Amino acid sequence: MRPMRPPVLDPLFAPVSVIDGIGPRIAKTLGNLLPVPEAMDEPRVLGLVFHLPHSIIDRRKQPGIAFAPEGAIVTLKVRIDRHQPAPRGRGNVPYRVFAHDETGEIGLVFFHAKATWLEKLLPVGETMLVSGRVEWFNGRPTMVHPDHMVSEANAAELPLVEPVYPLTAGVSGKVLRKAIVSALERVPELPEWIDRHVVAKQGFAGFRDSLEQLHAPQDAADVDLQAPARRRLAYDELLAGQLALGLVRRKMKRSAGRVFKGNGAFSSRIREAFGHALTDAQERSLDEIRNDQEKPERMLRLLQGDVGSGKTIVALLAMANVIEAGAQAAMMAPTEILARQHFSSISPLAKAAGLRIEILTGREKGKAREETLAALGAGDIDILVGTHALFQESVQFRDLGLAVVDEQHRFGVHQRLLLSSKGQHSDMLVMTATPIPRTLVLTAYGDMDVSKLDTKPPGRQPVQTVTVPLARLDQVIERARNAIAQGQKIYWICPLVEENEELKVASAEERFAALEKVIGAPIGLVHGRMKGEEKDAVMQSFKQGDIRLLVATTVIEVGVDVPDATIMVIEHAERFGLAQLHQLRGRVGRGSEHSTCLLLYKDPLGEVAHARLAIMRETEDGFRIAEEDLKLRGEGEVLGTRQSGSATYRLASLADHADLLEVARDDARLIIETDAELQSERGKALRTLLYLFERDEAIRLLRAG
Ligand code: ADP
Ligand code: MG
Repeated sequence: MRPMRPPVLDPLFAPVSVIDGIGPRIAKTLGNLLPVPEAMDEPRVLGLVFHLPHSIIDRRKQPGIAFAPEGAIVTLKVRIDRHQPAPRGRGNVPYRVFAHDETGEIGLVFFHAKATWLEKLLPVGETMLVSGRVEWFNGRPTMVHPDHMVSEANAAELPLVEPVYPLTAGVSGKVLRKAIVSALERVPELPEWIDRHVVAKQGFAGFRDSLEQLHAPQDAADVDLQAPARRRLAYDELLAGQLALGLVRRKMKRSAGRVFKGNGAFSSRIREAFGHALTDAQERSLDEIRNDQEKPERMLRLLQGDVGSGKTIVALLAMANVIEAGAQAAMMAPTEILARQHFSSISPLAKAAGLRIEILTGREKGKAREETLAALGAGDIDILVGTHALFQESVQFRDLGLAVVDEQHRFGVHQRLLLSSKGQHSDMLVMTATPIPRTLVLTAYGDMDVSKLDTKPPGRQPVQTVTVPLARLDQVIERARNAIAQGQKIYWICPLVEENEELKVASAEERFAALEKVIGAPIGLVHGRMKGEEKDAVMQSFKQGDIRLLVATTVIEVGVDVPDATIMVIEHAERFGLAQLHQLRGRVGRGSEHSTCLLLYKDPLGEVAHARLAIMRETEDGFRIAEEDLKLRGEGEVLGTRQSGSATYRLASLADHADLLEVARDDARLIIETDAELQSERGKALRTLLYLFERDEAIRLLRAG
């Protein structure tokens, strides 16, 4: 059921084509620029309202014709002297209009212009204001196609400071500007939802006033990310996000709190089979998890730890705890490979402890699947590992006590909401591989409890990272050959051509063929288009050492564990994001042997790419890398959700508005403590805010009580 949006917002949620002058064609084209909501084929009016200028054109310079600097945008008050139409039949010669002021004469130049239109627009003898860019040719100033031409009487129509918007082909700046002005007229006066102390402290104007200010900047500072009006809107968006996440969390926590108190029987056997002492960080995280499990509240915890920090054993022991208490556990991974990987690494320990463990992905079919499902329903399976197939309707646990979601950034906030709205009464432990900066934890997870694995298991060797220009590929191949001769194992990651699976596969196949010829030992290839079984077989022979070089696309990025692989070659490393490089590099340095990561890049490197590779050489600290990534790329890409857009903000920038995020988090928390049903005057205003930023899911939860 779709909750009821307050009718005052209707004008903003209408399709853009309701605006005069926006026909179906432009409406559609605007879809390249503005978000198009699901189930609509054009953007909403709200999209225009939130489409903010990134800079201004300043037309305030009025130097007089003779003093107009070359290339500068100026406004001139001139008298029109004469028209010089283009000679007939010579379309490439422009139409010229000559005008003067007290300092000199200027030619206004028009290509392919209609004489009748120009005669009407620029009547001889009239005083006009013209604004545009002045260019000097042979000592004569000209202005080609002035941006604005108005009579003296209409001087007010000439915008002296003009906002500049991101554009898309097919919609001119003028059309867009007009549409935005009309859209703004549809913005209603809305009750203030921001806490008045915050309003006062931050010096915020109201929602509508702020929008108006942003679309009518008076100065470059007005379109800055730190302009008060911009900060106000950023805050609105952040507050809506934090409040929505807070409401979800509250709902989860309140519902069906259960106490899981294990007797340690399985846990101790798992620890014994594991054979290593847990690190302090692992013990601490486990204590935190246990503590949640024993509380009559639902657990919603994030287990955050860098690649190789040892999250898996922590998750397994957490699962053991609920199983000891008589319930079942599930572990969900984002990809088939990773699910199998988890299954194969957990199984021996689980089985040694006497736990019954099974796997379920899209690949388990037919009778085997039926049997697994039946056993699950009967409570004959303790741990079910799988992909998102686990959340299908047909999968019924007898009693699911804990869902571990190995997120690796592949699931979005949406999936988690989906999960919670399914009303599973289980605890939830989300594992994230790349350490996310604090600001991103807040935006993606809200005020979730966090356990951190901030140290790695002992005995890890640092990975030596070197950057090599692609021109020296031959030397790299030579080195690979020697390494293989010495019994080492190598990952060879293929260039990420673009987000196109076909091309990725093609380039991987090409590289595979080329390497196969020169390496002189059996090598393997794994990519996203292969069947699951094929992938498994290749991975298995790489693990066993039947092949010693594995050419791969980024499918191996997540979680794959071959501890004796010691060399990671990444081709066209400059095309990868930092987080991704870090993930890939994390595939080596897992055993006791010294490991190397070779980042091959194509000269010349752009500035950002150069900075990225330098950071990779400098540090293996995932937290630092994630922070730098945020600075260099922006939040959506760090979270890997750019496409789905679920964690990306339109108005707020996490790199620039981190201070506001903190305030929003605190405020959201206070609201939930004092007015969780959003019933007060301000609470009602906040509901409007949630709708405005399309956080409807949260409102649905409110309704569900
Ligand atoms: P993550 O999932 O956090 O990337 P894993 O759980 O896969 O890391 O652990 C990485 C490797 O470290 C595995 O081979 C695991 O067996 C090993 N490991 C984990 N904890 C310890 C520990 N306390 N002592 C020694 N090795 C450990
Ligand atoms: Mg892992």
